[in-house]
Amino acid sequence: MTTPELLVPAGDMEKLEVALDYGADAVYVGGSQFGLRAMAANFSLEQLSRARDLTRARGKKLYLTLNAYLRPGEIPALESYLEELRPLEIDAYIVSDPGALHVVRQNDPLMEIHLSTQANTTNAQAAEFWRQAGVRRVNLARELSLEEIGRVRRETSLELEVFVHGAMCVAYSGRCLLSSALTGRSANAGACAHPCRWGYALVEETRPGQYFPIEEDSRGTYVMNSRDLCLVQHLPALIQAGVDSLKIEGRMKTLYYVAAVTRVYRAALDRYLADPHTYMVDPAWVEELDKVSHRPYDTGFLFEPEDAVVHAADSRYQRTYDFVGIVREMTEDGRALVECRNRFFPGEKLELIGPGMRNAFLIAEDLSNLDGNPVEVAQPNARILMGLPDGARKGDILRREKNSPMPEPGA
Ligand code: SF4
Repeated sequence: MTTPELLVPAGDMEKLEVALDYGADAVYVGGSQFGLRAMAANFSLEQLSRARDLTRARGKKLYLTLNAYLRPGEIPALESYLEELRPLEIDAYIVSDPGALHVVRQNDPLMEIHLSTQANTTNAQAAEFWRQAGVRRVNLARELSLEEIGRVRRETSLELEVFVHGAMCVAYSGRCLLSSALTGRSANAGACAHPCRWGYALVEETRPGQYFPIEEDSRGTYVMNSRDLCLVQHLPALIQAGVDSLKIEGRMKTLYYVAAVTRVYRAALDRYLADPHTYMVDPAWVEELDKVSHRPYDTGFLFEPEDAVVHAADSRYQRTYDFVGIVREMTEDGRALVECRNRFFPGEKLELIGPGMRNAFLIAEDLSNLDGNPVEVAQPNARILMGLPDGARKGDILRREKNSPMPEPGA
């Protein structure tokens, strides 16, 4: 049995630290160039160097996305960027474009290369092609079923990576021109405006301005929507199929999302590896995944044809919890220095979560500013001191159930 790696997105340095704290074996990040996800707070060279030190100190891996498809005029810039990256000794580059692969191989022949899902690898012959071109690992196309993943595994020695959690596109593994056409923002440059989730109407050409609704049910149409992928219940099958790396999607997601999702997959993976025969899915894992912002979950194409329903009846985001703060330090007198991310009040019911599926409920109390003065309301971006349950640690996260009753003013 292989021991698969848990690969987690890190949109910035803060999320990278959270990913490591909450159980990632490896993290993938974007640099300042060629990494898609144009809006993410991508890593500068100095930040990449720090990220490399942090991951190395903890025995983890750092991968850098260079997965844009390059135009002819961009090759010299990639070569210069590779020069700058070389001293950082990043563990692997993630590429899609055969041209970018060729340039990396020419400039850094020993660099480990992973092939991105954008390259749409769907069979072992394609995997072998990439292996001969110098690729060490492929992220298989999301369109493959479990049976097909197993078949590719049997027919290639290449490392295999699959997505286990996160957003999906209706486009073929992310290849889509809808956003470019309607907004000028290219999905293939990481700037998708998600027009597949907008509302659409029908117009007859001689009746401009008359919009006929397209309705699948009372809420409209979801003809181009996709659900979110969630394979926590199927990790054993993927491990038995010989997958080497289990990847979580979402370099644009919040720090809270990274923490909550990573700790669930860490717990599930550890439980299975400790004793595959007695492994059972803990309902708490599924509950936890429901507490992050997500569209309804689905198993994508894993069990095709029975479950190849990417188009779903309702694909709106569901968000039941607000991320309200992160513990930056525990003080000597047992209080916590909390960096607030959402407003909360003394008397509100909060939940504290930490690595290893640690959870505790509390009533927010004993709130003060750093000068020791009482705080009536914790504001976003403020740093406050507050009491927390025993066992709270630096890096723990505070969240609040949406629509939980607010305390009476002055209570
Ligand atoms: S418009 Fe939708 S399908 Fe196309 S890339 Fe964006 S999210 Fe994916």
